[in-house]
Amino acid sequence: MQKNFQVFSDSDVIAASFGRGESLSDVSAFARSSNHTLVRMEQEHTANLAIIETNSQTLIANTDALITKQKNILLAIKTADCLPILFSHPSGVIGVIHAGRAGTTQHITEQTLQVLKSKFDIVENLTVWFGPRICADCYQVDKKTDEHFDLVSENLKQVQGVYGDSQTKIIVSEHCTAHHNTQWYSYRTEGKGVQMNWFVIGSLLVSDKKAEPCDPAFY
Ligand SMILES: [Zn+2]
Repeated sequence: MQKNFQVFSDSDVIAASFGRGESLSDVSAFARSSNHTLVRMEQEHTANLAIIETNSQTLIANTDALITKQKNILLAIKTADCLPILFSHPSGVIGVIHAGRAGTTQHITEQTLQVLKSKFDIVENLTVWFGPRICADCYQVDKKTDEHFDLVSENLKQVQGVYGDSQTKIIVSEHCTAHHNTQWYSYRTEGKGVQMNWFVIGSLLVSDKKAEPCDPAFY
């Protein structure tokens, strides 16, 4: 099934989202058809990051963020309310971040972007996409005090703590997994046993080719 399927890139980056009605087998089929090796994580709500150098490992344990500059690798992230973040740079560096409340509190986004800066020398032209997640209105974290958690604003702060506004292009999906539950899976709406939304990004770049950053202008 191809419902919700969207490719959001120019010719140098491919990316896609898989929501309600789709599953990991659709993600795997997409990876095969685009000639990419699918690399996913055993997401544990940590702030652990892995840099993928080869396509020999396809399931990374105890990790919630991935970076690679290898082409033909498709990085995948699964969520059902947590914030999926995809990013790309014209140098061919791409990555994914699983930013739930726990990872956000542990500064996973800030730490991942710090690595982009320090290890990959990326100082500008980063494109960052925040995908469908539970919105602050729907995400009450304390009933008594009616405290809500805003995944988008907390992670925006982390991006802006590393990169200035002129150094990044940030695109924020307007979709909440609960408000738009007919399109996306939502743990808080559906409870235990909920299926997962999948988001993938892959680079088609040869290392020294010049390119524009991708334009993930959907949702
Ligand atoms: Zn909502």
